[in-house]
Amino acid sequence: MSFVRLPESVVSCRNLVGGEWVSPAGASAQEVRSPYSNALIGRVPLTTASGVAQAVEAAKAAAQGWRATPLRERTQFLQRFRTLLEAHLERLAHLAASESGKTVAEGRAGLLKGMEVCDFALSLQNLDGGAHLEVSRGVTCEYRREPLGVVAGITPFNFPAMVPLWLFPIAVTVGNAFILKPSEKVPLTATALGELMVEAGYPPGVFSVVHGAKPAVDALLEHPDVKALAFVGSSPVARHVYVEGSRHGKRVLALGGAKNHLIVVPDADPELTPQAVVDSFTGCAGQRCMAASVMLAVGNVQPLVDDILRRASRLEVGLGMGALIDRGAVDRLETAIAKAQADGARVLLDGRGKRPAGEAYANGHWLGPTVLDGVRPEMEAARRELFGPVLSIVRVPTLSAALAVENASPYGNAASIFTTNGAVAQTVVEGARAGMVGVNVGVPVPREPFSFGGTGESKYGHGDVTGPSSLDFWSQLKKVTRKWSARTDGSWMS
Ligand code: NAD
Repeated sequence: MSFVRLPESVVSCRNLVGGEWVSPAGASAQEVRSPYSNALIGRVPLTTASGVAQAVEAAKAAAQGWRATPLRERTQFLQRFRTLLEAHLERLAHLAASESGKTVAEGRAGLLKGMEVCDFALSLQNLDGGAHLEVSRGVTCEYRREPLGVVAGITPFNFPAMVPLWLFPIAVTVGNAFILKPSEKVPLTATALGELMVEAGYPPGVFSVVHGAKPAVDALLEHPDVKALAFVGSSPVARHVYVEGSRHGKRVLALGGAKNHLIVVPDADPELTPQAVVDSFTGCAGQRCMAASVMLAVGNVQPLVDDILRRASRLEVGLGMGALIDRGAVDRLETAIAKAQADGARVLLDGRGKRPAGEAYANGHWLGPTVLDGVRPEMEAARRELFGPVLSIVRVPTLSAALAVENASPYGNAASIFTTNGAVAQTVVEGARAGMVGVNVGVPVPREPFSFGGTGESKYGHGDVTGPSSLDFWSQLKKVTRKWSARTDGSWMS
């Protein structure tokens, strides 16, 4: 394990438009500070509508030629990009960690997952042949997958590499020109991904990066030439993007926040379970949409709770667990912990005031693992997405009571059951409303080609961002019906 390496000098991010790095006209600049130390590591332009329009124009100019490029040729560009990702893995892992607060290992894991999505997109040249069928004598029907044109992706701070990589390798390989609007909190990694796309040789305008915040998003939502938009972020913004994008006639898939439940029953494996619970609520300092947030403790699972506390209290912030994104996040979480206490919860493990040793990280944004017990389902700690390393234990008498809590949540990203009994596992697999269900898995993210996506307020729109249904999101199927006359014109036929 190693501490993150912060960039050696302050990075001035620019937009990637038409293959060139440009400073958008009229954009103010915002500072980017590392969650590890609060040190200034970059500046990001806040692009206005005119800068967005410039990027869309360049993307539109590129889209025609890119659409006409055969899939096999498009795939070769992605192969080069994937090779570059692998070559730059360590540098990118540190960069993603330095601006998001992840550990370096978590930065690396995000990139590896992104490479898995590239592998899926690379397989399309062999697997996505469409369909062709003789439907009656002399008549054939055929599917042709065609790109949409200019499409965009808007991404959150917590996975600076992985979430963009969920989107653009597939969208671009399908034949679209893609505009990435990364989170203004983590623009450095997105810029580095753009540099690798340029190095991979993609034609100018096929991949663009537009930095900014709400005004840039709203300009993308309103621009008539943006045909589809994938969003990943918090639920209120996901809903805004879904409603506004749809109102402007776009195809939209908007992934939102989460409140994930781990159901732990008395027969759960005593070794595997406590570590999986701790990894789930402390990984990425709880700043991931698949993090465990509520443990539904069914019956007497006290020995498991004791072990969870033992393991979580040994975790060192800094090396073992990363930082929160900013001071506001620390304040918000400390307030939520105090509110839970006031509502009657007991703090079994208190992460407030924890910080790594030494001066270098004294100004970072830290909160150690925190465990609340006696949380009731109606309390805010059980209902609201906290997005930090806080586990709320809700005690329930039965499995069906646990499922009732899980299914009452308006979110629907993940739920997991920890048991050694197949029938218990199956009850949860069938009965949980979440879009991704785990059995003895704390973070049930499906591996590709199984797709990623929740339900309820965790996802607005149809289909998933990765896997087979993402192809339908980023393209349209043209249906061709052919009939050939049996008439022959000359003796040369036979
Ligand atoms: P966020 O919603 O604040 O920001 C996401 C993106 O939207 C950013 O690019 C940001 O610039 C933009 N944005 C922010 N406010 C906006 C507004 N009012 N109008 C238009 N655009 C706006 O999310 P975040 O804090 O960066 O990320 C954390 C959230 O993302 C958590 O809720 C987490 O659960 C969620 N998330 C969900 C998934 C998933 O797969 N469901 C994955 C990762 C993160």
